Formats: sequence, structure tokens, C-alpha cells
Amino acid sequence: MKTNAKPGDYVEVHLTKQIYEGIFLESPKLEKEIILLKLDSGYNIGFNKKDVLDIKVVRKAKEEEEEIEIKKNGEKPNIAMIITGGTISARLNPRKGGVDWLDTPENLFKFYPELFEKVNILKVEIPFMKATEDMDFKDWQKIARVAEKLLNDNNVRGLIITHGTDFLHYTAAALSFFLKDLNKPVVLTYSQRSIDRASSDANLNLQCSALAAISDIAEVMLVGHASSNDDYCHAMPGTKVRKLHTSRRDAFKVVNAKPFAKIFLDRIEIISEYNKRKKGKVKLDVKFEEKVALVKVYPGQDPEILDYYIKKKYKGIVLEMSGLGHAPTKRARKSWIKKLKEVQEKGLIVCAAAQTIYGRLDPLVYSNGRELMETGIIYLEDMLAETALVKLGWVLGHNEWAKSKDIIKEKMLENMVGEFNDRLEE
Ligand code: ASP
Repeated sequence: MKTNAKPGDYVEVHLTKQIYEGIFLESPKLEKEIILLKLDSGYNIGFNKKDVLDIKVVRKAKEEEEEIEIKKNGEKPNIAMIITGGTISARLNPRKGGVDWLDTPENLFKFYPELFEKVNILKVEIPFMKATEDMDFKDWQKIARVAEKLLNDNNVRGLIITHGTDFLHYTAAALSFFLKDLNKPVVLTYSQRSIDRASSDANLNLQCSALAAISDIAEVMLVGHASSNDDYCHAMPGTKVRKLHTSRRDAFKVVNAKPFAKIFLDRIEIISEYNKRKKGKVKLDVKFEEKVALVKVYPGQDPEILDYYIKKKYKGIVLEMSGLGHAPTKRARKSWIKKLKEVQEKGLIVCAAAQTIYGRLDPLVYSNGRELMETGIIYLEDMLAETALVKLGWVLGHNEWAKSKDIIKEKMLENMVGEFNDRLEE
């Protein structure tokens, strides 16, 4: 079988009984006898060369476009961007069948030209390119250091950070604590579907982010689709936001608070209070204790799991407890009471957040809760568990605080960057 199809071409693969359509991919290095096709559904399929009768080219692949020079316009406000990985930085490479990173302003311009209609992108920094599942606190620190530099540049009005979705709310919480005396907007944004897909959410998210970055909302916020329609976004507080859906465009929701604003393509409608942009420099406070963990409590769970954290010299743990803040107690086959006392006597800081996600803990309602509270657990009210983990690592990273449980408790319960909502309604 001979064919003039080249990787990247849209082809028909003719088998004896069936014809498949899709993008012709390069054969895997070790399996030259395999023909690979990316179907319209996005899945790859492989055929044995000997089963293929013909490969007909339907459309030739587009040649790579020339590099585009981005023209700066003095009338538009200047912003800066930090690019990290995730779907928003990915596009399908038809030759490979996998994805490539979109990591230069020129590449961004090709895919998101509308972004450049609203603002000049004065500077682009790429501290690393990775998916959020591969990040840890060191990556949050790297982003914060680059952000500090950009925010303290007088020519920059605001900052957009593009980021993967899965653990984006951890980064949002970390930047909220790491960037002190925030002077300008810090906008984290994402996409659930890459730009090659007709249903991509990236363009609206980026355009709304540009408006947020030049607004007077000097907060660490996440900007993304407010519904599954492509009509407007929400600007959501960095410590009160969570990914709540695997695939919807409006995957992120504000929990136990309200968005700062609705952002349409031509306007911003303010919803709740926020800190306004101000003069002065942002300061970095990126201290972090790595030995912190987040553990979900479930019925029948053995409290000996806590021994592992003691053995591994953990300093703090956030327990995702039941609704009002319970773990197995006296009537359970394995009560947690004794073990909780024991690990706290050994110096482990134990905090509680609600696994219901929405609402506020209240350990005083039932005797089980009261007993658990008496062991010394710090109940974190309506704080999200992920925010709590990040805050605990940050608080314990400060040696001057970490030396006293009273100070740690005071800091954990102090509303520093909107992580508590005192006005949370029923
Ligand atoms: N799972 C990847 C990440 O979190 C891709 C994405 O969700 O954007 O980075």
C-alpha cells in the first residue's frame, strides 16, 4: 500500500469493510507497522499496515504560519502574564497526536488574538511548564517570586497567570497568603478544553481575565466561566474557590462566599466587597512547612493512620471531618479520641475542615463533637480544606509562630485574606 499522506493531513483510511476518517499521525518509533489516526472524537486508533487497503488524503495539513510580531499600542493598558502548563497552554500537534505547549506571546497571539485587542502584554514569564498534578509548594513559591517582580513594575497594571485546572485552587490559596499588601489584580485563569476544540472556553476566560487585570480589584482571584454558556465569567476569591466539576467550563465555584464580580466582554458588574488597587509595593512571604497533610475521615477508619504522620515527622494535619466536624468516637469500633490526644501531645497540629465543602463546622452541637474538640483540634469554621492545608503549611513555615500552639491557633483562626466568611448565611 502506497500513500502520499503526511502526518498532520486529514485522511480516510480504507479497510476491507470500513473507512475511518481522522488526522494521520506519525507511526510510533518502535512500531513502524502501525498506522495511527486521531479520530474526530479526539481518540487515537491504530491499524496494522497489512489490514489497510488505502489512505486517501482529504485535506493537506496547514503549513506552520509565520511568526507574528505583536504590536504594542500606547493607548491600551499594559499587563504582564505568567504562563504555566495545563490545558490552556496546550494545543494539539497533529503530527504527534499529542499536545504541545503554547509558550510564547506569538503563539498566544495566534490562538487568542482577541486578548490583545484589550491590552498590551508587556511581559511574559514562564517559570515552568507543567500540569498542576506535578506541582508542589516550590512551584507556588516560584510563581509568587515572578509575580512580585511583575507587580512591582510601574508599567504593569495587572497580572494574568495561566494555569492547569485540577489543583488550581491550591495555587490560588498559596498566592493569596504569599503576596502581602497586594497592590494590583492577580488573575489566575484556565481552560477545561484546549483551543483546538470548538467548545474551548479559553478565549472568553482570557478576555475576561484581561478586564479583571486592568480593573481596580487588587485581589488574588480566579477568573473563569460562570455558567456553561459562553457569555460571562466570575471573578472568584482565591481562598474561597474550588474545582467542582471534572469537565464543565464553569468547573470552579465560589464556596461559602460570593464572587467579587461578573465579567462580561464589555463590562464588569461588582457583586461583593474587595480590596482596591493601591500604590506601594507588594511583599513576598513564601515561607512554607512541607510536612503538612490533608486526610479525609470516613466511617470505620483506623486512627492509627495518624501514627504514620508522627513517624514521618509531620508538623500539621488537616482532617476533612464530617458535616459539623466529627470523626469516629465512643460508639465506633475504633474511636479517634485517644489517638487524637496522643498525637497532639506529641506536637502534631490537628485542624478540622468540613468534607461537605459547603457550610460551617460546629462541634458544639453533639457530645461527639464536643469530645473531639476537647482533644485540642483547631476547628476552621467555613474554611475550605484545600485552603486550610495551604494556610497551615504557610503558618507553620514561620518559625516565630510555629514555636507556640497558641500562636498557631490564633494565626489559623485569623481572617487574613478572606479565608473565613463571618457573614456566611444558612
Ligand atoms: N490536568 C491538567 C492540569 O491540572 C490539565 C488541566 O486541567 O488544565 O494541569
